[in-house]
Amino acid sequence: MLSRSIYRQRLMLTSPQQAALAKSLSPIISKQANALTRRQLSSTQSRLAPPGVGPSSSDKKSWGFWKTLWRLTYTSLIVATAVTGYSIYETRHPQDQVPPAPGKKTLVILGTGWGSVSLLKKIDASEYNIIVVSPRNFFLFTPLLPSCTTGTVEHRSIMEPVRNIIRNKENSVTYYEAEATSVDYDNHKLTIQDAVNHSEKVLDYDYLVIGVGAQNSTFGIPGVEQNACFLKEIPDAQKIRKKIMDCIESASFLDLDDEERKRFLHTVVVGGGPTGVEFAAELQDFFEEDLKKWIPEIAKDFKVTLVEALPNVLPSFSKQLIQYTENTMKAEQITVMTKTMVKKVDEKNIYAEVTKADGSKEMMVLPYGLLVWATGNSTRPVTRDLLSRVASQRGSRRGLLVNEYLVVEGTSDVWALGDCTATKYAPTAQVAAQQGVYLAGLFNQLARAEDIESEVNKLESLAKTTTNDSDRKAVLAEMEAKARKLRRTRSLLPFEYSHQGSLAYIGSDKAVADLTFWGDTSNFATGGQLTYLFWRSAYISMVFSTRNRLLVIMDWLKVKIFGRDVSRE
Ligand code: FAD
Ligand code: NAD
Repeated sequence: MLSRSIYRQRLMLTSPQQAALAKSLSPIISKQANALTRRQLSSTQSRLAPPGVGPSSSDKKSWGFWKTLWRLTYTSLIVATAVTGYSIYETRHPQDQVPPAPGKKTLVILGTGWGSVSLLKKIDASEYNIIVVSPRNFFLFTPLLPSCTTGTVEHRSIMEPVRNIIRNKENSVTYYEAEATSVDYDNHKLTIQDAVNHSEKVLDYDYLVIGVGAQNSTFGIPGVEQNACFLKEIPDAQKIRKKIMDCIESASFLDLDDEERKRFLHTVVVGGGPTGVEFAAELQDFFEEDLKKWIPEIAKDFKVTLVEALPNVLPSFSKQLIQYTENTMKAEQITVMTKTMVKKVDEKNIYAEVTKADGSKEMMVLPYGLLVWATGNSTRPVTRDLLSRVASQRGSRRGLLVNEYLVVEGTSDVWALGDCTATKYAPTAQVAAQQGVYLAGLFNQLARAEDIESEVNKLESLAKTTTNDSDRKAVLAEMEAKARKLRRTRSLLPFEYSHQGSLAYIGSDKAVADLTFWGDTSNFATGGQLTYLFWRSAYISMVFSTRNRLLVIMDWLKVKIFGRDVSRE
């Protein structure tokens, strides 16, 4: 319609009128852009305009740039939607699985954490009869667990059912929701206990991989086990989320000048490692962005204290980031107490020893409503059982000693990975995941070596029964070639860790990052709001599945739009 009327007018107009019309058309054109394509508009404008009024070559260039950008954007959007859609379709419609061929060796994998799941993802399941044993029937993306304590992310968004993981393998894998209780190395037997009914079962294995992780350390400090909340698993995060609201509602019940009210509103976080720092930051954000708004009467007394025994928080990060983190936390009103070692805890108070600047020590009492204990890892009972059974493991307190191929020292056919091991590496998801990938490669290689070995054996028997000289020579040559291949396949490389860097959230939309490039040769330390965007994009790209990715993005959007939920479940 518009283009026709423009055409009609064009026939009747003289030059000055053309210029005036070309100018006056611009706003009309932009208003009616949906009725006319941009290409039609630009050609109509340039046909109408006299020389000098039409787009210059620089205008054309910039228009060309925006056109290309727009095309790139919508093409990427279409491709991203198609890839996401296909990936969702694929995971929702798994193919029929075939069981591994009879006679395959039984590989038992303990745990469904970072180490075991990355092994499971990469292993060729046609080569083994795989059995996974874990009391937790899902994989947990731990880096976003602190966000679950305040509802920034919902806990189901960072859980991936193990059934989805194993059902999407080409060959069938068995899963038992059970806990391994003891291992009989000599006889290759493993006792497991059903996580619900507690009935027991004994499994025979050819190969065993232990990836049972670690539990929270309390260093035997009196009262911690009974009174503190921990932050390792989903129920821990749920308990903290409930307890935050319990404390606030209990405080609101009391008179404003009541000391007990202040106690309820005081959260103490013990341990200034990444877990403690990230939780304290998340809680302070919750208070600043939501709690203060909906329950203003708590604003004056709400307080978060972070207690650390060492002279600074985040000891594994670079110096400037430590300083930046401490300054940021101070600005956020989080009280950071360093050189403060907690010695005892009771129902209402924490007793800590503070080392003063002159080196003298002083005991202080911190009343608390919520205590979150994040002082690192200790060994699980099943790991301790293993440590006590193998003579060469007995001195180890941090975890299982493994060699450079991750074989548990003092055993054969048993490997271990992740937080349950004592190695030169920090107990992180990065290390566990890389070890899982390494072990998958190792098992795939072992299976290939076994296949080649059986071919060599067959050729050997054939050579013995072949009487014709030239045929025999050919068989022997083939056998020699296979034997060389076997030697190459059997020569395994030791595990090597490649550190990609460390990230931590420190509150008020800021994060710190210690990044490593070119195989540990170059470091880059950065902190702030841009780093926080990087932190978010890194974790979004790392979460287990497309489903997790979409759920986490929706949670973040939901919190941006509506704020966090302050109801108590
Ligand atoms: P886990 O992931 O802990 O898995 C252990 C598995 O073994 C679980 O499935 C468990 O149910 C199972 N299991 C336990 N007992 C038994 C048994 N008896 N028999 C069979 N199975 C058993 N690291 C990073 O690199 N970056 C981060 O940002 C980061 N953030 C973290 C945030 C938090 C809050 C926490 C707690 C840790 C974080 N970590 C991070 C550390 C990281 O989560 C661990 O290093 C990693 O989970 C170790 O992997 P894993 O496979 O050894 O053990
Ligand atoms: P951690 O071992 O890193 O830190 C625990 C801290 O608690 C230590 O600094 C220690 O000095 C302190 N502490 C111990 N006893 C104390 C006491 N009695 N009083 C006061 N302070 C005490 O533990 P974590 O933060 O739970 O981390 C465990 C592992 O998980 C680490 O390897 C860590 O790197 C990894 N992790 C990484 C991230 C991340 O990269 N964002 C997040 C969480 C955990």
